[in-house]
Amino acid sequence: MADQLATPARPLRAAVIGAGPSGFYAAAALLKEAEHTVTVDMFDRLVAPDGLVRYGVAPDHQNIKAVAKIFDRTAADPGFRYFGNVEFGKDISHDELRRHYDVVVYATGAQSDRRLNIPGEDLPNSLSAMAFVAWYNGHPDFADLNPDLSCAAAIVVGVGNVAMDVARVLAKSVDELKGTDITDYALKALAKSNIKDIYIVARRGPAQVKFTNAEVREFGHLELADAIVLDDELRLDRASSASIEGDTSMQKNLDYLRAYAEIGLQGKARRVHFRFLLSPVEIIGEEGKIVAVKMEKNQLRPVAGGDISASGTGVFETIPAGMILRAVGYKGVPLPGVPYDRRKGTIPNHLGRVVEPSTEKEVSGEYVVGWAKRGPTGVIGTNKPDSIESVNSLFEDLQKGKLAGCVEPSREAVVDLLQARGVRYVTEAEWQVLDAAEVAAGKEAGKPRVKFVHTADMLAMLEK
Ligand SMILES: Cc1cc2nc3c(=O)[nH]c(=O)nc-3n(C[C@H](O)[C@H](O)[C@H](O)COP(=O)(O)OP(=O)(O)OC[C@H]3O[C@@H](n4cnc5c(N)ncnc54)[C@H](O)[C@@H]3O)c2cc1C
Repeated sequence: MADQLATPARPLRAAVIGAGPSGFYAAAALLKEAEHTVTVDMFDRLVAPDGLVRYGVAPDHQNIKAVAKIFDRTAADPGFRYFGNVEFGKDISHDELRRHYDVVVYATGAQSDRRLNIPGEDLPNSLSAMAFVAWYNGHPDFADLNPDLSCAAAIVVGVGNVAMDVARVLAKSVDELKGTDITDYALKALAKSNIKDIYIVARRGPAQVKFTNAEVREFGHLELADAIVLDDELRLDRASSASIEGDTSMQKNLDYLRAYAEIGLQGKARRVHFRFLLSPVEIIGEEGKIVAVKMEKNQLRPVAGGDISASGTGVFETIPAGMILRAVGYKGVPLPGVPYDRRKGTIPNHLGRVVEPSTEKEVSGEYVVGWAKRGPTGVIGTNKPDSIESVNSLFEDLQKGKLAGCVEPSREAVVDLLQARGVRYVTEAEWQVLDAAEVAAGKEAGKPRVKFVHTADMLAMLEK
């Protein structure tokens, strides 16, 4: 049976769950493989494809979003079909997919976030950066977030690029944002923002930051905001200095931070403060509103394995603020019927082959790619070799006769199943209609696109 698979007479039927970068890179690797005939059906719970390229990447970083054109090329392959608005585990089950596909590739990313686990975290306006990002980018699940921007100060916890994105969006002027594809509702809310002080707070020191050079550089060029760094907090301990020796990227980050410390206040209306060696320990509320965040000062010490960890000193500082955004990492959510590593928030795997966590036994015909595979790290491009690794494992298994053909391989059967269930899936051709409408609306408004936000609006447009 297995040797007949992946031939023109019996193409290998692959389902890719998730239309983000890792899903598209996996689809491309599956379709491009010269020796085998493969068809790919890609499912996404949202109408719009592209995952975090559309709903994560900052609106003022449009050049990054150009990668979607590469995904469009994959989607134009005759062996590819798109099923938008179809949620794995709700609209189609694990067993149904296994019935209709020889192989399933999970590319579902990391759909939740890590918490701080401190008192006051559930107060209104204590938000995940994940939610805030999704709100300004028009993700249908977060359009009603309504962050309260009437306060004078906001605290962003974390020093990765997501923290930098949310701090920058809060710091930018309307003029700096209006020519982007930020949603109109977010732009209106930001135009009325009273936030003058934005604190980016790091648990460890400046030699342990996760942001990249381009991101920190931008804070030196904001129309409305000064970048503030305290001299004191830039002083490196011996272990930190040694850890970044020869690391040109970290040295450059430090150069930017030192330059901000030197320039100091220039009298702009807003200030972005980079603060180091501080951990939030309590979000303080009064009458149901955040009024301040209590921080503990940390000290660094080298630990086994060459890492440098932070521990509290028992000295505290309270920063008045009305909003806190935690940007301490995205996290996966379990998919029904699929193994899951609760601690890492990923699907356990060996080189992309899904394994049962308790037995380490491979689950035949199931693979994982992207953030669902390795956790929420890496840029868009990191997902390409990562997806290729998983697809190589898949072809190796095919070669070794490890893949059993599914019982319902016809391309129509899955369409019949979804239709019989009343699932209004959106095809690639329909997505192209929506995409063109967004771009056309953008042209009129002087923006790259004006996004549809709500699924109902997208479906209504398609019925016109
Ligand atoms: C805020 C932010 C900004 C970023 N900015 C940049 C940047 O500027 N440059 C850069 O190179 N990288 C950036 N990245 C990183 C980049 O976005 C990721 O590396 C990449 O998106 C991960 O790809 P993925 O396919 O694994 O996950 P995702 O992009 O998250 O895609 C997962 C897809 O799976 C779908 N899905 C989830 N669950 C289901 C389900 N049950 N059924 C069906 N579909 C489902 C989701 O709707 C989504 O479309 C950023 C990340 C974030 C969070």
